[in-house]
This record gives sequence, C-alpha cells and structure tokens, in this order.
Amino acid sequence: MAKTKQFKTESKKLLDLMINSIYTHREIFLRELISNASDAIDKRHYLALTDADKADDYEMFIALDNDKRTLTLSDNGIGFTEEELINNLGTIARSGSKEFKEGLENADIEIIGQFGVGFYSAFMVSKKVTVITKSVNSEQAYKWTSDGTSNYTISEAEKDDFGTDIILELRDNNEENEENYDDYLSEYFVKKLVKKYSDYVRYPIKMDVTKTDYPEDKDEKPITYMETETLNSMIPLWRRNKSEIKDDEYNDFYKHQFNDFDDPLKVIHSKVEGMITYTSLLFIPKKAPFDLYSEKFEKGLQLYSKGVFIMDKNKELIPDYFRFVRGLVDSSDLSLNLSREMLQHDRHLKKIAANVEKKIKSELEKMQKNDRESYNELYKTYGINLKYGIYEGYGINKELLQDLIMFKTTKSDEYVTLKEYTDNMDKKQKVIYYASGKSKDSILALPQMDLIKDKDYEVLLFTDDIDEFMVNILMKYDDKEFKSINQGDLDLIDKKDEKVLDKLSKEKESLLQALKAGLSEKVTDVKLSKRLKDSPVCLVSGEGLSMEMEKVLKNMPNSKDAKATKILEINPNHEIFKTLEKVYETNPDKITKYAKILYSQALLIEGLPLENPVEFSNLMIEFMIDKVE
Ligand code: ADP
Repeated sequence: MAKTKQFKTESKKLLDLMINSIYTHREIFLRELISNASDAIDKRHYLALTDADKADDYEMFIALDNDKRTLTLSDNGIGFTEEELINNLGTIARSGSKEFKEGLENADIEIIGQFGVGFYSAFMVSKKVTVITKSVNSEQAYKWTSDGTSNYTISEAEKDDFGTDIILELRDNNEENEENYDDYLSEYFVKKLVKKYSDYVRYPIKMDVTKTDYPEDKDEKPITYMETETLNSMIPLWRRNKSEIKDDEYNDFYKHQFNDFDDPLKVIHSKVEGMITYTSLLFIPKKAPFDLYSEKFEKGLQLYSKGVFIMDKNKELIPDYFRFVRGLVDSSDLSLNLSREMLQHDRHLKKIAANVEKKIKSELEKMQKNDRESYNELYKTYGINLKYGIYEGYGINKELLQDLIMFKTTKSDEYVTLKEYTDNMDKKQKVIYYASGKSKDSILALPQMDLIKDKDYEVLLFTDDIDEFMVNILMKYDDKEFKSINQGDLDLIDKKDEKVLDKLSKEKESLLQALKAGLSEKVTDVKLSKRLKDSPVCLVSGEGLSMEMEKVLKNMPNSKDAKATKILEINPNHEIFKTLEKVYETNPDKITKYAKILYSQALLIEGLPLENPVEFSNLMIEFMIDKVE
C-alpha cells in the first residue's frame, strides 16, 4: 500500500526557492545526485571493510530514455531504508538548524547554500522524481515518488540489488524562458556535464553511448551500436599533478566538497614521499564558518586511503589553533581496516598530523612575507585562534606561533609582527611595550604614555581580550621582555633621575603613607611616578593580574573575585604635588579627600567604574565651592 505524506514546511519553501532562484545553473543537479551516489557507495564500502558484504564493482550508471523523457541515475551504494527515505528525503530537518530556518525565512540564499540541499535540486529539471532503493540493512525495497510540490508517496517495490535508482521525469521545455530540458537526454551533453563537474569522482560513472563505425567502403552504410563507457577519469583532483591543475579546478573542488560559496583564500596542495607517503590538499576559507567559535564546531580533515574515503572530520589531523583549515589527507600508509578508534592512535597518522601542522605554519609564514595583503585578511578572520594557540597548554606552542601573530601599534595602523617591532626598536629601548585599550587614540591619551611618547617608543595595541593572557605566557620575544605601560616599573628614566626620585620618595614617605591610608584598602601603594611627564596621576597594577585582565575575568562566570592590585602614582613634577605637600602641612585632615579625588580620576582615565560616584560628586562640589570662597 502506498503511503502519501506531506513534506515538512521548510522543504516546501525550499523547493519553491530552489526551483525559482537558487541555482542559476540548473545543470548542477546532476553533480549533486552523483555526489550523493558516490557518498552512498562510500558508506557501503566502509561497511564492507568491517562486514563480509562486498560488492565487486562499485559504480554509477546513467540511463537516458528519449521516449519516456527520463534520466535515471543508479548506484550500488548503501541504499535507503524506509525510515531513511522519510527522514532524508521527506524533510530537511537534518539541516534544520536555526540558521538554516532563518535563511529560509529571509530567503537568504547564501545561508541556504551553506547547507547541502543536493537531492532537491533534482526538481529544478524534473516534474516528477522516483527513487527506487534497497538498503543493505533491509530485505525490502521501496519506492518514493514526488512531483516536488507538497507531498510524496512511499510504497514497497521490487529491486534485486542493493542501491538506489533515481528516475527523473524531465520537465517540459519552456520556450518562454528558453529552458530546454531535452539537453539532459543528449548523450553528448550529459557526458560533458559529468566531465565538467564529476570527473574526479572515485567510482566509475557509466553510460551506454552510441558509437558509429564507418566502413572503409564508402558505399556501405555506417554501423551504429551502443557501448558502455566510463565517463569520468576517476582520478581525484589531489592525486593529479599540481602543475596540471588550474586555480579554477581547485576552487570548484573546494566549493563543492566543502559547501562554500566563496573561493578559498589559500590552497595548499602537497605530496610527501619518504618515510611516510601522503598527499594533503588544504584550504583556508575566506570567511570563517558561523560556528567556528562555538563549542559545537567540529574541526578536522577528511581522511582517504588511496583515494578511498575513510572518514569526514579527523580531529587528530589538525591542531586547535588551525581549526579553520579545511581539506583532506590521502595516504596509502594507513591501513584501511582499522577501526576509527584505532586510527586515532595510528603512528602514521600522528606523523602526518605533525607534518601538516608544520606545512600550514610555513605556508602562513610565506604568505605573511610575500603576500601581506592576503595574510592581513586571513589574520583579521583567524588571528585570534593563533593567539589562543599560544595561550593554551601553558605555551607549548609559543615557538611555533609567535611569528604568525601581529598587532597594530601606536605608530602603525597596519599589522606589525613581533620581529618587525623588535627590528624597529630604538637602541636604548630594552623591552617590548604594550597597552590595552579600545583604540589607538584612547591609548595615546593615557597618562601612562607620557614618557613613552616623549622617547618616541612604539607600543603594541592590545585590543583582544586574550592578548594580555597570551603575553603572560609568551613572556619574551627575541630575549626581550614584554611590558605593559601600566604595570610594574618601565625603565624609562635614567639612573641619575631615578636616584633623585628615590630620595624624594623617602623624604615624602609620610605624605605618601597618609594618602595611602586615606584610600584604605583600595590601593596597595601610593608612589611617586617614574612614567608621568605632564599628567598629574595614574593608576597602575602591581605584579600578576592586570586591571585589563581583571575586566575580562569579571565578565566570565565563576571568577568574580579575581582582583588586580592597584598602585596610585603621583607625578612629583606636577603642580598638584606641591598642593598636596601644602595641604599635608597645613591641613592634614583634608588629605584623605584629595586622595579620594585623585584616585577616582585615575579610575575614570583607566575606563574603570567609580566605586562611589555619589561621594566623588559631593567631593567635587565641595572643592568647587571652596575655590570660589
Ligand atoms: P546532503 O547530501 O547534503 O546530506 P541531500 O538532500 O542531497 O542532502 O540528501 C539527503 C540524504 O539522503 C543524504 O545525506 C543521504 O543520507 C541520503 N541520500 C541521498 N542520495 C542517496 C543515495 N543515492 N543513496 C543513499 N542515500 C542517499
């Protein structure tokens, strides 16, 4: 008995969209169906590695019937069970993620394109599609039919062999919009399509083609007959010679294999022979996938053995910090009959992974050197991964990654590498300076920049949350320490001046202590500053956690009590210092109020919230009134 079922709503919408707009090239339907068929054979082949079931000849077959106006694609792959027919062809729930549905609602073709909608493309050229299939997991064969409008039917069917036949009843030609569906009944045209889109498919795609023999004797009639021909060369793109592969071929392969709309930013194709033999074909996508930074994201490379697909996302092949790299590895050294679990511990696989990592690194370095524009684009999209890579695992990968990271600086609006920074350092400059902040302007305006600006030193701009955490792991580059402009001592003044200042600090000890007492627990110290020139005060942090890190940690769950130690620095050469001295002499009770105002101002400059805005406001008012009297 045939059962009639409704497509899920999303499917209906998708069909409409697809038929009317998505693909301007209707001909790609064949590529989509062939790719599904090839996957189905892969699946059966994979089962056969562990089970006894073994088909001798995996293949696809295309049959054209001019009378019935049908194109049939048959495969001897894994087939569909009844349930799979319903789940896989009756709904697009597998792609039913939120983004996909939103895409449908807004008819956002880009988003839809990121999901496989392969099978449905058959309706772009067909008025009716019939699927006759028998799964290796089922005794019974089934038939699925639909005209692609709103429902489909499923019934039991007869089929001897495992696999699937997809029968497309082509649409009528439409003179109005010049669509000629008869093309898909032409041997010549179909051959061309297979060559164009599916040449590297690993299994033979066969078709009966018309051959003509012309007898030598011109009077005799030519003889025509049918012969089965394999239409594709079956050599996977990555197994071909690099020099023979055109950019377009790489790009098309990437877009189709990895469901992307854009050409890749970079293609890395390498063949390695020796201790271990493998080919890798890697791509760096132009745009990061929408879920790259979510926990759900699955990194990994496809794994093949001698051109035969083994698995889709092998995690071991790619380190976390290169998670944005897509692609595949094909190695004859991997034993095919290993289980997936065993594969993870495979010695060869580990070696390949190490090589792949090195290769990516060296290619990125080359790009950084020779094609900075592309590297900048890549860095903007993926740089944060590299920074995390340095931070993770207590820095075991810092050597590997430190030359790949870049920063904008107080002197450069373009990204600068650490090497470029240190090469440009003033001879007298001993350390690498960095400053956290929202923008170059806000950093340049900080009082902590006074003397650094005076000396014309360059400062790296830290704008990502991870930056300070990363640099705490990195610690040094080229033997030069990293120093935050508002943490610890900066080494900016010469020994003589430093002595004078230390002496002054001793003399003014009791004033400084009084200021500190006035701020009770808020600061760990009040000091005369060695980094200010024109500004009156600034707030810096002591060793360990910085104020920037405190801000970041505050926004994370469970780390509310992480606190930076704060030190209030006062500029001894500023007018305010004389005032403080005077107040302390004549009216020491008032010193606490001065301390509070100065501290609040330093907080504001740092972009930190005032702890007690009402008190601060009242103090300001009090001082303003005082002044006028
Ligand atoms: P996608 O291939 O992107 O997952 P499709 O709509 O093209 O989406 O196919 C839906 C699913 O139907 C596939 O994922 C696969 O499980 C199954 N399928 C499609 N074609 C075949 C086939 N020829 N044999 C077996 N299963 C198939």
